[in-house]
This record gives sequence, C-alpha cells and structure tokens, in this order.
Amino acid sequence: MPPKKIVAGNWKMNTDLQDAISLANTVIEGAEQMKAQAILCPPSLFLDPLVKLTAGSAIALGAQNCSFAEKGAFTGEIAASMIASVGAKYVILGHSERRTIFGEDNLTIQQKVSQALKNNLIVIFCCGETLEEREAGRVEEVITRQITEGLPTVIENPASNIIIAYEPVWAIGTGITASPAQAEEVHRFIRNLLKQQFGQIGADISLLYGGSCNAANAAELFAQENIDGGLIGGASLKAADFLTICKAFA
Ligand code: PEP
Repeated sequence: MPPKKIVAGNWKMNTDLQDAISLANTVIEGAEQMKAQAILCPPSLFLDPLVKLTAGSAIALGAQNCSFAEKGAFTGEIAASMIASVGAKYVILGHSERRTIFGEDNLTIQQKVSQALKNNLIVIFCCGETLEEREAGRVEEVITRQITEGLPTVIENPASNIIIAYEPVWAIGTGITASPAQAEEVHRFIRNLLKQQFGQIGADISLLYGGSCNAANAAELFAQENIDGGLIGGASLKAADFLTICKAFA
C-alpha cells in the first residue's frame, strides 16, 4: 500500500477552550474534498471536548506529548492510556521543542513511543537537524541516530502505527522553509533508512514535512515523491490555511 497522505496540525500551547472549539468547528465545516487524513493536535486538556465535537467527521485528534511512564506518581504528566481513553488516536513524539526545551533524549523518546504503541496510539515521530548540524554536514548522521535510537527496534505493523515527520529545526517557526529539493533529499534518505530498519514495509510509512509549511508552499512540497503530507505549526491555527494545506495534493 502506498503511504497514506496525512496533514497534522500542531497547535502547541495556543488557544483556550472557546478558541479550540471554534477552530475545530471551522475545520470540520471546510473538510469536504480533503485529500489527506487531517489530524488536529490541540493542548491535551481540550482533547476530550474536541473528540466529541469531531465525532462523525473525517477529522482525527492527537496529543502533542505523552509520558514515558505507564501511570503513578508523575505529577503533571499525561499517560498514553489517558489520551487513548478519551478517543484520541495519535500522539506527536520527539518534537524538537520537547528535545531542546524539556531535555528529552532519544532513550526517553523511545520509552514514550513504546507507551504510545502499547496503548494503540499512532505515533507522529519527529526528527530533524539544527542549522549547526546541517552546516557541519551531519544531517544524515543526526537523523539516523534519532530514528534508530528513538524508535523501538521491533514495531508491529510500522506502516500503520508510525508516521515520521522530518522537521529541520532551523525551519520550525522561523518562516524559513526547506526548499522542496532539500526536503525531498532528506525524505529519500529517511525512506531508505526505514526500509533498512523495517524491511519493505518501511516504504509504506508516511513521511511528513514540517517547518514553516504554509498555504502558499504546501503544494510544491507535497508534490515531491517522498513527501506524504505535513506537520503544521503556525499555519494550523488559521482554519482557512490549514484547510488549504489539507487539499494541497495533486
Ligand atoms: C512544528 O512545530 O511542528 C512546526 C512545523 O511549526 P511551524 O509550522 O510553525 O514551523
């Protein structure tokens, strides 16, 4: 099966409950003729009402993070089982903001991925290099480590349970987008890496691009052979832009 087309909106720590409901409602209203699976990833507090709001629509819900632990004395954390229990289907893990601001390393991320998979969540796994690493010619090395150390070595049905988002750190929230050729080059590399790690089924894993992807540049990025959609930050907070991006496939 060819990789599924997917567009996920990472709302980060934005919106209040009213904004979240109104943003999700506008996306639901404009959802006809979507050419990809649209996923909204609001702050976790709003997952439950938004799962109810989107019931019966084509929109799915995801969390932006989950705990590495199953349950217990971890004040302030949210377990993968809790996310699954409200009906969300996805979770973003390994985002560069989690890696840099919250100090998450590949091992912690791997534990989170395991928790998510155990609870039947589909993982949107982020990887990507900093500008310094790119300039030092270390893109492939960095991505290889993030993927081989951050993902468990054995994953049941990886094409259904894992989505990879390539997000060059220098492009996130900066307004600087990787050119379609730059993004495609890394996506091709990731595709081959996944085939090495998981065998031929690795070719069916969806690869999303993220980093200042917007309504104006999405179509050109998504036209690349190994780009199956996007993980969208800033532009996902504007319903019209997000809908345009969800429809930006040939
Ligand atoms: C992100 O944080 O996942 C992201 C892609 O952000 P932005 O689109 O704002 O660069």
